[in-house]
Amino acid sequence: MNKRIVILGGGESGTGAAILAKAKGFDVLLSDLSAIPPKYKDMLDARGILWEEEQHTESAILNADEVVKSPGIPDKAPVIKRLKEKGIPVISEIEFAGRYTRSKMICITGSNGKTTTTMLVYHILKQAGADVGLAGNVGNSLALQVAEDSHAVYVIELSSFQLDNMCDFKADIAILLNITPDHLDRYNYEMQNYTDSKFRIIQNQTNADAFIFWNDDPVIAREIAIRHPQATLYPFSAIHKPNIKGYTENNHLIIDTPDSRFEMEQSRLSLAGTHNLYNSLAAALAAKVTGVPDDVIRAALSDFTGVPHRLEKVARVRGTEYINDSKATNVNSCWYALESMQTKVVLILGGTDKGNDYTEIEALVKSKARALIFLGADNAKLHAFFDNSSIRTEDARSMPEAVAKASRLAEEGDTVLLSPCCASFDLFKNYEDRGEQFKQCVGNL
Ligand code: ADP
Repeated sequence: MNKRIVILGGGESGTGAAILAKAKGFDVLLSDLSAIPPKYKDMLDARGILWEEEQHTESAILNADEVVKSPGIPDKAPVIKRLKEKGIPVISEIEFAGRYTRSKMICITGSNGKTTTTMLVYHILKQAGADVGLAGNVGNSLALQVAEDSHAVYVIELSSFQLDNMCDFKADIAILLNITPDHLDRYNYEMQNYTDSKFRIIQNQTNADAFIFWNDDPVIAREIAIRHPQATLYPFSAIHKPNIKGYTENNHLIIDTPDSRFEMEQSRLSLAGTHNLYNSLAAALAAKVTGVPDDVIRAALSDFTGVPHRLEKVARVRGTEYINDSKATNVNSCWYALESMQTKVVLILGGTDKGNDYTEIEALVKSKARALIFLGADNAKLHAFFDNSSIRTEDARSMPEAVAKASRLAEEGDTVLLSPCCASFDLFKNYEDRGEQFKQCVGNL
């Protein structure tokens, strides 16, 4: 009898996993507790794959040999608990897809900067003419590409939720950008659980593999001292220190690999801000280790256009700059956004709180914020933290209201920055919807 694989979640990763499982001859069911988007139903139907929506039929799930779980489903979901009780293995789509390919895997994780760095590495490899696929949180699922559109190299953005259910998968090149508190609601509010999840990026690596990481992150440094990674280490830092492989010196970005040195003028980097210097160093290291020629790396780091909703310049209206950083869904990413601001800022923040501690941005808010606009269904926590700071605060319950208030409070030469520190689900469909509404409201000013 064929082995039975059940896929939980009918989004991009689940649909891809179902298609790959079917192609490999498994008996497949895809089950989703919510409605499955029509696009994915069509893809499943076209390949004769069974699916159910708005329910989990336990009898058809608990007889699986293995389950592939969408990263969006938390471990505390009843169906996952039942599977664990029965000892049925639950894996991620990336783990599943990794079994059926020998292609080179460049994997990127971190609390912040994943998408930017993933897109940057992908852009460099594309410019180099490599046969490269984009997967994970961006692009098509890895499983779908392995099944129907395979590539020699994959650049994969991995969230902690994907890493949680990976055990045998190995990254040829692993990038760990930083570890700061995020998603703690999914990790029993234990930072160590979240850290352990991030460090799965280096599991199974040998010294033939590369581990690229930010040297100055205290959490990463502490864990490396304990874990002694097997991979060849490529730490990066803003400044040169012994053993650092990617750094800046005399306004040049420098990458040292065993057999060569790469240099380019820092001013030629297309992405601005300290955080993007780190992302550029990480991407350049990955490209060097992959063997991309220096001139291609230089050109690609110079002409990369950035990713929407990440410090995206929207417009200058009556002397005020408007910047959309809707993807800043935790406090640390807002810190980097504020840090890169050269003017006074009217900051729009708020939304669904993920266990935030605003202490991290307190000093920057004091020195740079002209006013704060709290954009959320429940702004109580923001008021409790910021109301004593003598900075003007206002509430808004919709994006038009937030932008109208921000434009009134901003003075000539200021920046209005949407960098919310929070998830968007209280008032918006997702962070893209929040960013698009911001851009539209700015357009109407
Ligand atoms: P992720 O995919 O990890 O959420 P993104 O590349 O989408 O990261 O960037 C999200 C936000 O995080 C950006 O809006 C930016 O303000 C901030 N950011 C980007 N890179 C970094 C970094 N290396 N360190 C800290 N913050 C960053």
